[in-house]
Amino acid sequence: MTVVLSNAGNIWTYRGSLGPDHWHIDYPHCGGTHQSPIDLQTRDAVVDPTHLSPIVFYGYDRVSNLNYTLENNGHTVQIGLNEKTMMISGGGLSDTYIAEQFHFHWGAVDERGSEHSLNGRYFPMEMHIVHYNKKYGNISSSVDKADGLAVLGFFFEVGRFNFHFQEIINNFGDIQYNDEKVQIHSIPMIDLMPARLANYYRYVGSLTTPPCYESVTWTIFNETIEIAEEQLVQFRTTIFENDKSDGGVSMDLSDDYRPVQCMFRRRLYASHPSLKYNAATQNVMVVGDGNSAASNEPHRISLFFMCSAWLWFLQLFFSL
Ligand SMILES: [Zn+2]
Repeated sequence: MTVVLSNAGNIWTYRGSLGPDHWHIDYPHCGGTHQSPIDLQTRDAVVDPTHLSPIVFYGYDRVSNLNYTLENNGHTVQIGLNEKTMMISGGGLSDTYIAEQFHFHWGAVDERGSEHSLNGRYFPMEMHIVHYNKKYGNISSSVDKADGLAVLGFFFEVGRFNFHFQEIINNFGDIQYNDEKVQIHSIPMIDLMPARLANYYRYVGSLTTPPCYESVTWTIFNETIEIAEEQLVQFRTTIFENDKSDGGVSMDLSDDYRPVQCMFRRRLYASHPSLKYNAATQNVMVVGDGNSAASNEPHRISLFFMCSAWLWFLQLFFSL
């Protein structure tokens, strides 16, 4: 497929010669040591319930009359929150963060799609709600600051039909191609999130797309969001990464996730002791139902050796 450039020098994809393995060439931050996503290895998590109190959500339950902007940007389906009335604080965050947008990463099949993994287990989709630090005033001033962004991540599991997400999916016909956008009715964010939000993982990382700035305080929630298989199919088959004017064959925007990155010297934190022994992933490994997610043990082992080698190299380099 021919990539039509709207912004020269600002191209990247999830496959091939412009894929994640090559991002660092044009975007050096992507080769850093605090990159995201990661495999959340829960046994190594440091439990810190005092610091990691429940996040306080402001305005997430409000039904406003203003619209959201639903957009296909060629990399994901993104919903712009035009009114900046949703905020988070607490939960170990040192500042107040304002919600800017949310978007999704999904796989072509149920066994993959999430960016983060939980003890090697991947989920069919992951949602990110991106917040910027209020003290920097807007997203563009925050995106490259160490404490600039706070992203909330949620895993999806195949289950019951989700009526709240259907309000978004119903508009996919208007944003099939890159650069298409449409105004949609706002939905209270609380309806899109799981009920229990006190249990979560925390680490410091980066944007998972170029320019990969290491500016994100990550919060990944333990409770998953249920969505029906037929709704995932809508993501997989009706959203394309090419422009409408391209003609030819349309390319599904599935598998728009970055592979997990090396943890290096970072610590993973958990808000509750039970999170160290995640029942969901242990069930998958023992029972191995393979229904809505899969563990990926061989990949984990190769990642472990690759990251260990990198760490050794970096230590050698910096000690010289
Ligand atoms: Zn994302």
